Amino acid sequence: MKNSRRSFLKIAGVSALGLVIKPVFNTFASSEEHAEHLKPDFSKKNNALTGKRWGMVIDTRKFQSEEDLKPIIDACNSIHNIPDLKVKNHEIKWIWEDEYEHAFTDSENEYVNERVKHLPFLVLCNHCDDPPCVRACPTKATFKREDGIVLMDFHRCIGCRFCMAACPYGSRSFNFRDPRPGIEHQNPDYPTRTKGVVEKCNFCAERLAVGKMPKCVEVSNGAIAFGDLDDPDSTVRKLLKENYTIRRKPSLGTHPSVFYIV
Ligand code: SF4
Ligand code: SF4
Ligand code: SF4
Repeated sequence: MKNSRRSFLKIAGVSALGLVIKPVFNTFASSEEHAEHLKPDFSKKNNALTGKRWGMVIDTRKFQSEEDLKPIIDACNSIHNIPDLKVKNHEIKWIWEDEYEHAFTDSENEYVNERVKHLPFLVLCNHCDDPPCVRACPTKATFKREDGIVLMDFHRCIGCRFCMAACPYGSRSFNFRDPRPGIEHQNPDYPTRTKGVVEKCNFCAERLAVGKMPKCVEVSNGAIAFGDLDDPDSTVRKLLKENYTIRRKPSLGTHPSVFYIV
């Protein structure tokens, strides 16, 4: 009796585990299939913008107040179907405003320039050259493309949130609830996400693929530049050469691709 009960529990346990694990493993694609993800898809779109390592330079001198940042944040939210869930703990953020002391903890010192100290900073995923989120992801739902963009495959995400724990910049958000009711005007050209999935800024990979600059760059009136860090003649390289810039938490060795002119 004892044995048959133990066997039953064993079978039931394995079956229950199977129910959980099966869909998880079904989300794994073959390694060949995944290798394709690592290459930007330029096959059908000849006017796609290409780069070897995409990067961004944000000129903080051009932002004086929160009001200057709002249209940029709103534009990203709108095209990427980012919900307004009205609950702080469940907030989904791709690009948002932060203060110097919080965003640049490595650079913080008590004598920092007062202007810099009170500037509103735009923060987003840094598309790190050595991204800890990619290493932490067990399903390869988070991966780094050959052009340096760190992307998400929402279908592979199992919601374990290891990537969130690994990201030292808080650049990832988790959908604690169905985000769709929080989207006021859905953009049919960009996928919505579901409860239990992580998301973040994608450097507007979908726009680069059709020859467009990232939306935040487009609406920034020249305050944000985007280009190939590998190309010495690119706008971003020129800006980096001519200006003093900082990056977030450089001591961690993640090598962010987002730079700030201060
Ligand atoms: S900022 Fe965070 S989410 Fe973005 S690539 Fe770096 S570690 Fe990953
Ligand atoms: S939650 Fe993050 S680490 Fe987990 S599967 Fe999704 S992307 Fe990967
Ligand atoms: S690059 Fe695109 S996805 Fe990232 S913050 Fe800018 S608009 Fe949003």
